[in-house]
Amino acid sequence: MKVLYYHYVRPAPADMPHFRYLHLEDFRAQLDFLGENYGFVERADFLTAVRDGTDMPQSVPQSVVLTFDDGFRDHVDYVLPELERRGLWGMFFIPTGMYESGELLAPHRAHHLLGAHGGADMLAALQERITPDMLANEHRKEFSENTYAGQDNDSATAEFKRILNYFLEPDARKTALDSLMVDYCDEAALFEALYMKPVEIRLLADKGMVVGSHSVSHPVFSTLSPKEQEREIIDSFDFLEEASGGLGLRTFCYPYGHSHTYDSDSVRLLGESGCRLAFTAEHRDVTADDMTDAPLELPRHDCNTFAHGRASYGPRRPGEDKGEDKMASEDAGAGGVS
Ligand SMILES: [Zn+2]
Repeated sequence: MKVLYYHYVRPAPADMPHFRYLHLEDFRAQLDFLGENYGFVERADFLTAVRDGTDMPQSVPQSVVLTFDDGFRDHVDYVLPELERRGLWGMFFIPTGMYESGELLAPHRAHHLLGAHGGADMLAALQERITPDMLANEHRKEFSENTYAGQDNDSATAEFKRILNYFLEPDARKTALDSLMVDYCDEAALFEALYMKPVEIRLLADKGMVVGSHSVSHPVFSTLSPKEQEREIIDSFDFLEEASGGLGLRTFCYPYGHSHTYDSDSVRLLGESGCRLAFTAEHRDVTADDMTDAPLELPRHDCNTFAHGRASYGPRRPGEDKGEDKMASEDAGAGGVS
């Protein structure tokens, strides 16, 4: 079984020349491609097999399950109608912290700062706002030994994300992002445009989609204490149970999803919370053994590793570079935007 993950799916956005997303037309073309080449796992087959612990039907091994991360409006406005038109279903992994804070979650702030202003300018602006004492101990030397001036947009973007996601202590990251958002984005307007509303979580569930947790604040779980991890899991499930009208099956996907971004405590705590399936960003097919032996660490494919799934940038027209036979690097795609 191939589980694919998506993030931003939309028509070309205005005023964000560096923003990376999957163009809606490319998404449609990719669904055509996946249907023709692999087919899709039936929702009932999937849920029955998970709930009862039985084998997937014979038709399943190559078939596709679609997953959508981060609770974006895109998924209600563009993905849901497209799935409904085709009689398809998907799994939607929704973080919940933004509904409490009224602010964009940290990775989404980064995507929009970068999308509007580009990596080189944003890296420079970030560096003006941080000093080595704000960095996690093990990264101070590395930071002070490197100069980041003069990087092109791509390498500056990678460095900007690395500093934010891994180097900065949480309080310092928040302070730096708060300051950047005030100076470079209209956060209130972005919030409205970016996230689905809680009532639309219910809509997804009512339309037969599977709603799952993506934590509260989209943290790197392996940097949290077990107690903090537990709160991220429990509080997000509590919110989604209420918002969806009852999840039925509890599912989860790890923020960032790479093996170093969660740990054995994360897996154990998910199991204790009643979660039945959890997805990583290890890029390979799900085997029958995975389903029985490691259902809380199931691999997923980035959509950009399949035809038509390559990210568009800013106003670029869809189909200019569909990447049919290219394997875009993970960080270049609309899937792996975290
Ligand atoms: Zn995410």
